[in-house]
Amino acid sequence: MALNRSIFIPLYVVAFAAVASTSLHAQQSATATPIADRYRTDATRLLDAAISDSAAYNRLAQLTDTFGPRLSGSGGLEAAIDWILAEMKRDGLDNVRGEKVMVPHWVRGEESAVMVSPRPYKLHMLGLGGSVGTPTAGITASVLAVSSFDEFARRRAEAKGKIVLFDAPFVSYGETVRYRSGAASTAAKAGAVAALIRSVASNSMQNPHTGAMFYDTTTARIPAAALSVEDAMMLHRMSDRGDKVVVKLKMGAQTLPDAPSRNVVAEIIGSEMPYEVVVLGGHIDSWDVGQGAMDDGGGSVAAWEAVRLIKMLGLKPRRTIRVVLWTNEENGSRGGEGYRDAHVGELDKHVMAMESDNGVFKPLGYRITGPDSAIAIARDIASLLSSIGATSVNPGGPDADVEPLAKGGVPAVSLAVDSTRYFWYHHSEADTMDKLSPREMAECVGLMAVMAYIVADMPGTMGRVRTAP
Ligand SMILES: [Zn+2]
Repeated sequence: MALNRSIFIPLYVVAFAAVASTSLHAQQSATATPIADRYRTDATRLLDAAISDSAAYNRLAQLTDTFGPRLSGSGGLEAAIDWILAEMKRDGLDNVRGEKVMVPHWVRGEESAVMVSPRPYKLHMLGLGGSVGTPTAGITASVLAVSSFDEFARRRAEAKGKIVLFDAPFVSYGETVRYRSGAASTAAKAGAVAALIRSVASNSMQNPHTGAMFYDTTTARIPAAALSVEDAMMLHRMSDRGDKVVVKLKMGAQTLPDAPSRNVVAEIIGSEMPYEVVVLGGHIDSWDVGQGAMDDGGGSVAAWEAVRLIKMLGLKPRRTIRVVLWTNEENGSRGGEGYRDAHVGELDKHVMAMESDNGVFKPLGYRITGPDSAIAIARDIASLLSSIGATSVNPGGPDADVEPLAKGGVPAVSLAVDSTRYFWYHHSEADTMDKLSPREMAECVGLMAVMAYIVADMPGTMGRVRTAP
C-alpha cells in the first residue's frame, strides 16, 4: 500500500457514486437474484476448489522464499517476474507476457542511526524510500522531538541545525502517513539537517517501517528515516525530561536512473466477447525489507491462483479474464499508470478491475467504486460467499493500481479483509510468510475467482463509473 488513499477515498466515492444507471443490469438486481441463482453451482465449485488445499499459500511461499523482497529496479523483482511468467505458461494461461514499464530505482545502501548522548545506543531505523543519503561521515546533531506538525509549527525556531523527530501516534494510515511523506520538507524549511519519524505502525516489536517519502521542490532535500515506535517514544521521553539527545545518522541512500521493469499479464480468452475484459491483480513489487508476503505478494498470487482455478475447472467465461501483476506500486505507481496508458484504447471495454492490496487475511467481502447497480450486482455475487462469511459489500475507494482505470470509468473492486494486523507488519522486516494463514489466503482466492468469473460471464455488465468532467 502506498500513500494518502484515505484522503482520496471520500472524493472518489462522491464522484463515482453519482451514477445511477437505468440499464438492464440495474433492473436485474432489483428483482430476484438471477445472478446468484444462475452461478451458484459454479461459485460453489470455485470456492470449494480454492479452500480444498494450500496451493496458493505454497506458491506464495515459493515466490517469497526464493526471490525475497522485490523493490522496483532490483534484480530480485525481475527474477521473480521471470519465474512467474514461466509458471503462468506452465499453468496453460493465454497470452502470458511482461509489458514493459520504466520504474524509479531507489537504493538504500548502508545505513544506521546511533544515539550518541545521553548514552550510546544503536537505534532501530530504516531510511524512507526516495530519501537522499547523508555525507559519508554521517550527520551528528541534537534532536528536537515533537508529537505533531502543529507542535512543530509552534517550535520551528528551535529546529535550525537539528534532527527533527516527528513522534506522531498512529491514528489511521491515511492520517499518520502524512508524517512519512512530509516530515523532511517540513523540517528542512526550518533549517533542520535531517528528519526522523515514528514508524507508521499500529503495533510494534522494535521493527521499523519504511515507505515512500516525497520532497517538495521549494526546499533543500534532507535525509529522512523511520525509527521503531519504541525508539521514537524513548527519544521523545528523554528530551521531554530535558536530556540532551544527540543522534548520528548515516544513510547511503541514492536514486539511480530509471530502470526497466514489467507488468505481468496473462489471460483466459473470452469465448463470446473476447474484446471485453475483466482485470484482477495485485502489485508484484514490494519494499526491500522482509519478504513482501503480505504486501503484496499475497494479493498477486491470490489473483493468479483465482485465474488458474477458473482455467483448471474448465470454466469458459464469455469475456476475457486478465490477471495483471502491477510493478512499482510502492514508490511511483508506474505500473498502474503504465497499464492504463498501454490499454487506453480498450478502456471502455474493461467491465471491471479488481485488486487485492490489503493483505490476504480473513476476507469479509468487497469494497466497490462504482454505480449503485454495480454495488447491487456485487451484493448478489457476495451472497454466494455466505458459507465463509464474506458477504459484506460497501462503497470504498479503489486500490492504487486500479485507480487509473477507475478514473477512466471502470468499476473497481477491492477485497475487504480483517486488516487488524496489517499495519503491524506493513513495510517492515516482519512482512513474512508466517504472518499469513493458508486457509485465509485460500478464501481470498475464492472471493477473487467467484467475482471475476461471474462478472466475465454474466449477461449484463456493472455499468460505468461517471468520472468527474
Ligand atoms: Zn501494497
